[in-house]
Amino acid sequence: MAEAPDNTEPRCPACGGRLGGFAPDDTVTGIRCTVCDWVGAVTTNHNRPTFDHTPYDVWVEWAGHDRGRIIAAVGNALCIGVKAARELLDAGSPVARGVQALEVRRLSEMFRGLGLCIRVSPEYRWPLG
Ligand SMILES: [Zn+2]
Repeated sequence: MAEAPDNTEPRCPACGGRLGGFAPDDTVTGIRCTVCDWVGAVTTNHNRPTFDHTPYDVWVEWAGHDRGRIIAAVGNALCIGVKAARELLDAGSPVARGVQALEVRRLSEMFRGLGLCIRVSPEYRWPLG
């Protein structure tokens, strides 16, 4: 008895190869052939931080760190000086307000380079770096 052909998967109309997608963070989304260069209906992938226009507030998490060191680090990182950084942290204020997703990622990378974590509100939907 011959094996039934596998009809459960969509196949490439050009070569019959298996169809695949694009990486989740690719600039486009759609289907394409994994064998030849056939590409199906492709649209811009809006599921990326570039298209996220949510304004985010960003705080530096400094619990457990030396306060003086954090103030100096934040003041340097944001080019606002120690005094402004101290006021910011003492007031529990965000270090950035209403910034876009890519700026959140940049801040996260910058503060992580300083050994600090950030807190983002509303909840950040993208991988942070
Ligand atoms: Zn193909």
